[in-house]
Amino acid sequence: MDRKKVVLYIEDNLLNFRLVKRILHANNYVVIHAEDGQSGLRMARYEQPDVILQDINLPDIMGTDVVRTLKNDPTTEHIPVIALTANMMYGDREVYMDAGCDDYVAKPVTRLELLSAIERRTMLQATA
Ligand code: MN
Repeated sequence: MDRKKVVLYIEDNLLNFRLVKRILHANNYVVIHAEDGQSGLRMARYEQPDVILQDINLPDIMGTDVVRTLKNDPTTEHIPVIALTANMMYGDREVYMDAGCDDYVAKPVTRLELLSAIERRTMLQATA
């Protein structure tokens, strides 16, 4: 039996966090949580999660800046990042990909979209 995969969710909205946590717990993931960008960066470095779910609008720094920092840090650059965001307007995809996001899922997230994005990223990681 493989060890459980660890997902770090950087999200200031607790309702969103609880929804995602419920979905992921039901599917055998361990979920850890940071409520702002700075603590998200710290947790990413210390906990080395298998994947990061990144909210964009955070109280301290923009999620896109969190991702830029993660992808420029040799201790975290390998961790796949999936943006979770309600602001999906024309051109937003490019902004997220430009910041270094590996994928994105639009809010409100559906169970299927979320799980398939995570599975896709963690599998690519395992074979890299
Ligand atoms: Mn937010």
